[in-house]
Amino acid sequence: MRSCEPSPMTNKEKKDLKVLALFTSVYCKDHHIEEIKSLSGLPAQLSSLEKYPSCASCRDFLNYAIERRLNCPLEEKPVCKHCQVHCYRSDYREKVREIMRYSGKALIKRGRLDLLWHYLF
Ligand SMILES: [Zn+2]
Repeated sequence: MRSCEPSPMTNKEKKDLKVLALFTSVYCKDHHIEEIKSLSGLPAQLSSLEKYPSCASCRDFLNYAIERRLNCPLEEKPVCKHCQVHCYRSDYREKVREIMRYSGKALIKRGRLDLLWHYLF
């Protein structure tokens, strides 16, 4: 039996969530008009995600993604899009795809390849 305590995340896992938070923040600023705030109540190991603010519904989405990730049952984490478990609700899976597609392009357009480079490689 696994305990309910989240185990420490690897750097790769933290980086994955950082990319998601960054991309969600970029997407949110261009699509949503609600008040934008930092994530709060994050586990200490993820406190660096606080620098990517987004609106209430995007924060819900990110908290959900973080939660799923912390509770992922697989030892060797595959890239989520290749995962067999499909832990995200299907509407959230669609949202992840849309966010990644939009924000990837937006960062390239803004000449922020350095950011992509930094996070993806
Ligand atoms: Zn938003």
